[in-house]
Amino acid sequence: MTAPAPQDKDVGTSAPTKESGSTTGPRIGVFVCHCGSNIAGVVDCGKVREDAEKLPGVVVARENKYTCSDLGQEEIIKAIRENGVQRVVVASCSPRLHEPTFRKCIQQAGLNQCLLQMVNIREQCSWVHSHEKEKATEKASDLIRMGVSKAARLQPLEAREVPVEPVSLVIGGGVAGIQAAIDLGNMGFRVYLVETQPSIGGKMAQLDKTFPTGDCAICILAPKMVELARNPNITLLSYSDVEEVKGYIGNFEVKVRRKARFVVEDKCVGCGLCSDACPVKVDNEFDLGFGQRKAVYVPFPQAVPLKYTIDKEHCLHFKSGKCLLCVKACSNKAIDHDMKDDLLTLKVGTIIVATGFDTYVPMKKGVYKYWEYDNVITGLELERLLNASGPTAGHLIRPSDGNVPKRIAFIQCVGSRNKKIGNNYCSRVCCMYAIKNAQIVMEHEPETHIAVYYNDIRAFGKGFEELYHRIREDYDVEFIRGRPAKLTQDPETKNIKIRAEETLLNKITERVFDLVVLSTGLIPSEGSKRIGKILSLTQSPDGFFMEAHPKLRPVDTAMDGIYLAGCAQSPKDIPDSVAQAKAAASSAAAPMFAKKVSIEPLTAIVNEDLCQGCGLCLELCPYSAPELVPGVKGGMKAHVIEALCHGCGTCAASCPQKAIAPMQFTDDQIYSEIQAALTETTRKHAVKKKAEAEVTP
Ligand SMILES: Cc1cc2nc3c(=O)[nH]c(=O)nc-3n(C[C@H](O)[C@H](O)[C@H](O)COP(=O)(O)OP(=O)(O)OC[C@H]3O[C@@H](n4cnc5c(N)ncnc54)[C@H](O)[C@@H]3O)c2cc1C
Ligand code: SF4
Ligand code: SF4
Repeated sequence: MTAPAPQDKDVGTSAPTKESGSTTGPRIGVFVCHCGSNIAGVVDCGKVREDAEKLPGVVVARENKYTCSDLGQEEIIKAIRENGVQRVVVASCSPRLHEPTFRKCIQQAGLNQCLLQMVNIREQCSWVHSHEKEKATEKASDLIRMGVSKAARLQPLEAREVPVEPVSLVIGGGVAGIQAAIDLGNMGFRVYLVETQPSIGGKMAQLDKTFPTGDCAICILAPKMVELARNPNITLLSYSDVEEVKGYIGNFEVKVRRKARFVVEDKCVGCGLCSDACPVKVDNEFDLGFGQRKAVYVPFPQAVPLKYTIDKEHCLHFKSGKCLLCVKACSNKAIDHDMKDDLLTLKVGTIIVATGFDTYVPMKKGVYKYWEYDNVITGLELERLLNASGPTAGHLIRPSDGNVPKRIAFIQCVGSRNKKIGNNYCSRVCCMYAIKNAQIVMEHEPETHIAVYYNDIRAFGKGFEELYHRIREDYDVEFIRGRPAKLTQDPETKNIKIRAEETLLNKITERVFDLVVLSTGLIPSEGSKRIGKILSLTQSPDGFFMEAHPKLRPVDTAMDGIYLAGCAQSPKDIPDSVAQAKAAASSAAAPMFAKKVSIEPLTAIVNEDLCQGCGLCLELCPYSAPELVPGVKGGMKAHVIEALCHGCGTCAASCPQKAIAPMQFTDDQIYSEIQAALTETTRKHAVKKKAEAEVTP
């Protein structure tokens, strides 16, 4: 016989009282998943289901091979309807994976989505106790008993919807940020792109050619930069910094500082007359110290926007109040030494973080002598030296004497795959950029001898392996397996001797080179660290931003409405950065197209009568959800911005007044779980003691 349809409102939430089956509390259904052999290979699911059946309040207990499958979900829906189930316990995998699946499932059967309790018997039982079948089974039954006890106390909660501002903020104007902004702009959304440097372009603008195809980097990037600047939906805020972000998905309030350029953008036509007149020359950061620029400058000729910037630190007028040659030279009266920073407030619905990477800087006292020997340079420095619009107009010379190097060594994995310095990861681009640059050098100077010191070559992408073979076979580049142990410099010639163990030959060799290029790895950028703090983004152990799920949500962050693109998330090449940027743009577009978003109902709630307004929860919340507001009865009281709260419980654990609690993790619910755990443990302990007493003479 089919029981009446479940009615959430009528259901009591006190614990069931009878030992088995019949109950005065809510009617509970338990669904034990085999997860193929993932769970059932270790846990005796039949026994676990039988144990569950005997628990107070449980009216139905079922097993299923794959509970998340269509069939498994159908069975839950059927069981709910046939048995009048009012609370559901699913014993399967991590709620991180399938809680949304089962919430939707029980909703289809007419239950409130929050009347679901998940029990993780995969990660917490079968996976961690794979060699202890009995104990894993016992633990699964214990966890389900706790889950059932809590399920009896679950309350129905309603999800709410908030409107979404159809405007996006992209932070970082490298190739990833540029692509994401263009895509969103083309979809019709208003976009602000904030770039901290005077020009967009990022690292790709510094590269010469690009692997594996050999396209000129700036030739393919510059049209995109111009396209972005011309898109009427995109506002480019270059030479600007994000200072503060408040709010939540759909409704972020962002404070941006537009740093004073001392050149009025609207008046500057990019003619460069000011720069010609400027008497100050300093190292150009863009050329990594190999070239020079003036105190009023654009970082590179294809800069976007093509607007000059005065470097306050080196400008003579700021130093001594004199000069002003640039003012005289500029017929458009664009120079304004009195310009002040501008503060803008933007309202945006979504944010894409594309703050990129920095390259690893070799240690001062390290083995590679980067800081001591002129002829030891990095891969990015080589890119500038090879670049036709670089400081040497593309002529490769060695820094110590300006001669063309005839013997060049590349050393791989500098700052990557190195446990000692804590960078365990592979930077994914260094093998290929070394191979690419070896090819460019050989095309420039076919007589050059090139050796690459490597651990193993990682040529995993489309066309990479082919390029690797080409460089070995067509250009005779030598690949030496082994990590150099020592570099020494000839004081006269400034040539570098590399001592290394060549592991394929099983011998120690010493070879002399004119130039050594360190293939330095990618590390999280300084700009990313700053933004990470402002946006409360979490990082993976490698320091790059962590995605919400490595496989299923690779561009989302734990913060709703904030997405990742490019090397801010992990080292990657240009095609992968562009692909991820496109994914981030489409993820950001989804809530903006929908114009509204539904907010997670499991949030924390404050009891104003108990709150003392100490503000501890504000400091500790990883999502900046609590705020202090005037209380109804006076005094400042904590209030939780529900759209920001993830119900993590950090505030509840820390509140000295017990004034704040996440719904569905109330003290009553947690104590009930502890009680359920201890009841059985105490019983087993008593049985064991009794048995021991009986055998003792
Ligand atoms: C030596 C070398 C050679 C390479 N060669 C190749 C190649 O041939 N082919 C290939 O596919 N890949 C190559 N790569 C990889 C390529 O450079 C990256 O894939 C690409 O640059 C990643 O782009 P991005 O936008 O994620 O990051 P980035 O290029 O680092 O851009 C990030 C941007 O964000 C800005 N920013 C940072 N912080 C902030 C902040 N807080 N606020 C505002 N703006 C901020 C930065 O100024 C920068 O403009 C090479 C890398 C190196 C180091
Ligand atoms: S005022 Fe400053 S920027 Fe202008 S020309 Fe003189 S030094 Fe250069
Ligand atoms: S920690 Fe507790 S008492 Fe302090 S402000 Fe937050 S809710 Fe109020």
